Amino acid sequence: MGAGLAGVTTAWFLAKEGHEVVVVDREPEVAAAASYANGGIIAASRAYPWSAGEMGGALRQALLRFDPELWLWGLQHFFLRTGGSYRRVLETKVRLVRYAQQSLNELGAEGLKSGVLYLHRDADALEGAWQRAEVMRSHGFEIRRIDAAGVRELEPTMDAGRIAGALYAPGDQWGDSAAFCRSLAERCRAQGVHFYLENEILSIEPVDVRIREIVTRRGRIRADAFVCALGVMDRRLREQLGIHVPVYPVKGFSATVPLASPQAGPRHALIDESRRVTLAPLGAQLRITGGAHLAGYELEHGPADFAPLYDAAKQLYPGALDYARARVRACQRPMTPETTPRFGTGRYHNLWFNIGLGHMGFTMAAGAARISADLVCGRNPGIDLEGLRIRRH
Ligand SMILES: Cc1cc2nc3c(=O)[nH]c(=O)nc-3n(C[C@H](O)[C@H](O)[C@H](O)COP(=O)(O)OP(=O)(O)OC[C@H]3O[C@@H](n4cnc5c(N)ncnc54)[C@H](O)[C@@H]3O)c2cc1C
Repeated sequence: MGAGLAGVTTAWFLAKEGHEVVVVDREPEVAAAASYANGGIIAASRAYPWSAGEMGGALRQALLRFDPELWLWGLQHFFLRTGGSYRRVLETKVRLVRYAQQSLNELGAEGLKSGVLYLHRDADALEGAWQRAEVMRSHGFEIRRIDAAGVRELEPTMDAGRIAGALYAPGDQWGDSAAFCRSLAERCRAQGVHFYLENEILSIEPVDVRIREIVTRRGRIRADAFVCALGVMDRRLREQLGIHVPVYPVKGFSATVPLASPQAGPRHALIDESRRVTLAPLGAQLRITGGAHLAGYELEHGPADFAPLYDAAKQLYPGALDYARARVRACQRPMTPETTPRFGTGRYHNLWFNIGLGHMGFTMAAGAARISADLVCGRNPGIDLEGLRIRRH
């Protein structure tokens, strides 16, 4: 269930095992929701839990709204900021992204490029980021600290005047996540996977402790096993099943902007850390993403949401982009309070979850899928799932 990064990669690993797989999604194309226009960065060396900096302001504001689901989520997220939990979640995340990198290599993805820059405008912030990265270096991630001249060397077209320096991770990657999903879906089809698109799931039907079938707009589908990879899963489906899935949408904004000339834009993908804006060159276009809003399930957006994204890009690459022809959208990160996904089964013994990929779905998808396929096949997954299991109730 679900044809985003989580659903398509899981279908691939299951089909490779010889299972008969059907993927159901309400959209007319694979990867049409969060997996469509994300930042495109496989930011393995930056697998930190999201905490105060990323979401503090948004959370305080959002808690003023009447939304009990968010209140519960916000409370759990708040406790993540305490030292012990933060370290535990960090270790869980590192374990998962390491496994995901390995799984992505085995998957043989094409079209990904390597080398991501994490820019800082402020020298103290750069120093802080370098110290924070110590834990990642100790886990074997290659991270180099470079000054403004080093940034200019890697990025000759950037106006690096206001840049203090950057952390450079040569092993991090980037690419077009929708193209990745669509190409993998083709490979799935060649393995016999059937994609049942434009087909909304209306209900998931249990009998005792098992799911017997799902009811879709176009009929009922029976199966031995079901994988829930529905991203920001509809409240209605959760309520109808009577289960608690600790995922809340964190809204972000994405613009895909044509480059004035192919040479004008960045050579690498980068995150402007002081603005929390991501830039990733995708052929003749630049993908610009940012924003983290706890705005419920709505997907509205307006020019004011894109102004800070464009402002960061204009400062770094003045005159490089044709903003009048930008394609814009809002999308939702399916986020758990700990910012780590959930796997395994809850109340129903044949309903497996691959949900809550949050802000790092592209980074974690291949590992998450292999874990899910192993669980469905009754095997122990390749990593310890402590902190990554869905609760049974
Ligand atoms: C602005 C932004 C930037 C991001 N940048 C990055 C990045 O640089 N790097 C990174 O690693 N991650 C990034 N992410 C996160 C990443 O995009 C997500 O974690 C990932 O796309 C989640 O994949 P998913 O398959 O779980 O969910 P989705 O892609 O949302 O897939 C869920 C699917 O389920 C379907 N569905 C839901 N309900 C139903 C139903 N009732 N019936 C039928 N179908 C249904 C939907 O149509 C959808 O296709 C970013 C996210 C955002 C919002």
